[in-house]
Amino acid sequence: MCRHLGWLGTPMSVHSLVLAPPNGLLVQSYAPRRQKHGLMNADGWGVGFYSPELPAGAPARWRSAAPLWGDASFASVAPVLTSGCVVAAVRSATIGMPIEAAACAPFTDGRWLLSHNGIVDRAVLPAPTDAESVVDSAVLAAHIFARGMDRLGETVARVGAADPNARLNILAGDGTRLLATTWGDTLSVLRRPDGVVVASEPYDDHPDWTDVPDRHLVEIYDGQVSLTALKGS
Ligand code: GLN
Repeated sequence: MCRHLGWLGTPMSVHSLVLAPPNGLLVQSYAPRRQKHGLMNADGWGVGFYSPELPAGAPARWRSAAPLWGDASFASVAPVLTSGCVVAAVRSATIGMPIEAAACAPFTDGRWLLSHNGIVDRAVLPAPTDAESVVDSAVLAAHIFARGMDRLGETVARVGAADPNARLNILAGDGTRLLATTWGDTLSVLRRPDGVVVASEPYDDHPDWTDVPDRHLVEIYDGQVSLTALKGS
């Protein structure tokens, strides 16, 4: 399983969210603490974020098929990349899936960013017309985007019913809110005075991290966090 992280709050640097924390995505790329599937996340990584300087609410993305720990150029610019909404991920490729930047989350539909921790049988999904890669996560992202982000929980429950072996932890953002699901893997939330972090696993040992139960939808908006049980739980 890959690992992902989202931030919604006052503008923060990507360095402080992704690279600096003692057990953040950088460390999770080679030494995750809660990963149940796969030992490390060396098959690429990506980050997307929003800025008032970008046109029409579209995010900027930086993705690579190389391990996060080797991306010295990114590390040098990360302190000056600041945003109030960030979605980042490190990847452990499922066997048989391509190793390429286009297979790394976050995927986008032009406005939303979306990351997937898990695995899904592409045969239960409609034939992709505009997926960014043939990787299962990109095909799933295209399906979720096509059905609409307001139906994320329903879509995850339906795909989970069609493929009982699927693991469907999704994290998505659009600049003003974050949505996440738990379906087979870990997820934790940290409420900070300046915003909310949602992550596959805590990036430090702060006592305020709380674990999200399996098969739930998490909605984060304007500093509020709400949890809803998904059908089939
Ligand atoms: N199945 C996806 C991939 O191959 C995600 C893998 C994961 O969550 N580790 O990239």
